[in-house]
Amino acid sequence: MVTSTEEKTSLNPRQNRSRFAPSPTGELHWGSLFNALASYLQARSQQGEWLLRIDDLDPARSHQRFIDSILYTLERFGLQWDGGVYYQSQHTEHYQAAVDVLCKNNQTYACRCSRKQLKRYHNQHPETPDYPGFCRNKTIDTRSQYALRVKTNRIPVVFSDPLQGTQQQILAQTSGDFIIMRSDKITGYHLASVVDDFNMGINQALRGYDLLQSSIQQCYLQQLLGYPTPQYVHLPVIVDTGAIKLSKQTGAKPITHNPVVETLFYLLIQLRQKPPPELRHLPRKTIIDWAVANWNIDRLKGCTKIKHQNQE
Ligand SMILES: [Zn+2]
Repeated sequence: MVTSTEEKTSLNPRQNRSRFAPSPTGELHWGSLFNALASYLQARSQQGEWLLRIDDLDPARSHQRFIDSILYTLERFGLQWDGGVYYQSQHTEHYQAAVDVLCKNNQTYACRCSRKQLKRYHNQHPETPDYPGFCRNKTIDTRSQYALRVKTNRIPVVFSDPLQGTQQQILAQTSGDFIIMRSDKITGYHLASVVDDFNMGINQALRGYDLLQSSIQQCYLQQLLGYPTPQYVHLPVIVDTGAIKLSKQTGAKPITHNPVVETLFYLLIQLRQKPPPELRHLPRKTIIDWAVANWNIDRLKGCTKIKHQNQE
């Protein structure tokens, strides 16, 4: 498989461009297909592009069989992406360049705190930010293993989400200085995402409400790197009957082989698009075309979670 970011440079930069960016650490489940469908419909209803990025930076957790399954599932449900697939693992030099910029601007420092050590501290001091800045003013021997953190500050990070309203946060009080390069030298999720969104020309990013905190941190990195901030739109998360978010970690079932038309139909109901009942018996293309033509994201305004009901 090849990346095709180069093919895309001729496109109109003002055109709406959105992406779906799964990690190949499992198959798609109901919640992830919900996000994929919403971002697809949002892009297509604005004649925009919808790109596919595979967040495969962690070789220990990423597997080719899940990449194959994700691609197969999206195609099976009629969610065809534009251009080739963008693989994060093929863009590590871009992440390093961004890290170099932040280091040069004195916005980073090395940290040798272990996760265990931080957890223990947090249990005793729950009011402190996730990382209380222990290594900020230390000189670390960089010949040994260390992570790189970005310095945060007390200036509020603010952006407006069309569904969830204005979001504002002082990162020094919440996440604290966060990791941009892990101690195993794998780029941190926020930095990689920000660099890729910039390089791919993404100007609209739909994602689950559970990633709101990530969006704030990413917005901050965009400011430091001089990148524009895409319009972040936070979709409700799908929760099970116990109000737990459906996810790979909580054992959500793969959606790969679910019946296509029925699944799309119920996803549209959950997206509050009110599909007419007869659509349930029509071909996949008809249901997708109807959904693009009738898509109204405002129906999800203020909604942060939706209960998943078993359709069987
Ligand atoms: Zn530290």
